[in-house]
Amino acid sequence: MFEFCGFRLSPGEKKQVVLTVPLGGQETFSKVVSADEAIPGLNEPDSYKMPATLIAGAKEGKTVLITASIHAGEFPGFAAAIRAASEIDPKEVCGNIIIIHCVNTSGVISNHSREVPEDMYNLNGSYPGDENGGPGARIAAWFVKNVFPMTDFILDMHSGGKSEPLHPIIFFPTCPEVREESLAAAKALNTEWLVESRATTGEYSWAANNLGIPGLLVERGYDDCCYPVWTEGHLASIRLLLKHLGVYDYENSPAEHHLLFKESVYLESEIDALWYPAVKVGQKVKKGDLLGIQEDFFGNELKRHHAVGDGSVYYYTRGLYSPVGCSLVAYGLEDSTEEL
Ligand SMILES: [Zn+2]
Repeated sequence: MFEFCGFRLSPGEKKQVVLTVPLGGQETFSKVVSADEAIPGLNEPDSYKMPATLIAGAKEGKTVLITASIHAGEFPGFAAAIRAASEIDPKEVCGNIIIIHCVNTSGVISNHSREVPEDMYNLNGSYPGDENGGPGARIAAWFVKNVFPMTDFILDMHSGGKSEPLHPIIFFPTCPEVREESLAAAKALNTEWLVESRATTGEYSWAANNLGIPGLLVERGYDDCCYPVWTEGHLASIRLLLKHLGVYDYENSPAEHHLLFKESVYLESEIDALWYPAVKVGQKVKKGDLLGIQEDFFGNELKRHHAVGDGSVYYYTRGLYSPVGCSLVAYGLEDSTEEL
C-alpha cells in the first residue's frame, strides 16, 4: 500500500488527485479566477490546490518526485508531466511516482510568469518556507513536511523566463552526499550540458543539501511558450530518468555526449537600467568579449559587461529593462569543463 497525503493506493494502481496545502484562512488568487473546469474543486475554500498523479508500482523500488511549473510561466515541463502521467502503466512500475503537474497553480491561472503571486514567493529560491506564512511559503513548508520524507529522487522541470532565451541544461547538486548519484542520473538524460549548482534554497537543492535527496533541475524552453519540441524534450528526460532509476522501462536513448561545467558565472544587474545584450544562447565567448551594455532612459551608457573568461552562454535576458537583481547573462567557464 502506498500512502501519500491522505491518499491510499494499492500496488499497480494510478490515481489522479488534487493535492491541498492548508492556507489558514488566506485567500488564493486561483479562487478569484474561476477555473473549476480545469481543476475540480479548485474553488473550495481554505486550501491551495495542485493537480497531481500518484502511481503505486506493482513492484518495490524507489519513490520519484516529478514537479513542474513551480515557476508559473514555465510550461513545457507542465505539459510533459501530464503526458508522462497519462502514459505510464502502473503495473509495469517498480517503486512509486509522484507527479505534480503544476505546483504554482495560482500563478498559472492568474498568468504570472514566476513567483507564487499571493506572496511573490520564489519556490526555487526561498526554501524551507514557513507553514504559518503566505501561500508560497506554506507550499514550500508543505513539501518539506509531507513530500520530501517520502522521496528518493527529485526531478524538477523548468524553462527560461519571459524574454530569457535558454540553451537546454541540467543543474545538479554538488553537495558530497548526493553529487555522484545526481550526476549519474544527469548523464543518463538527453541533455548535453550539465552544470554543477551550488544553490541551496530551491526545491530540489534544499532537499539535496539538507536531507541528502539526490535530484536534478532540468531547464528547457523559454518565453512562457510551450512548443511541442520542448515538451518532447522534457518528456524524454522523465522517461530516461525513470529508466535509469529502474522505476520504469523505456526505449529512449540518452545523449551520446555530455559536457560538464564545474564553474559558472551568473551576471546580475546592479542598477535599474536598460540592457542591450551582445550575446546569443549557446554562443562561445572569449575572455574580455562584450556581453552587453546598460544605459539610462536617455541612452547614456552606464555600464559595460565583459566576459571574465572563455565561456558558453546558457541563457541571457533579451532586454530591455533590467532592474537590480535581474539576471543578465549566465555562462559556463570553458576552463572548468570536463567531457563525459
Ligand atoms: Zn524556473
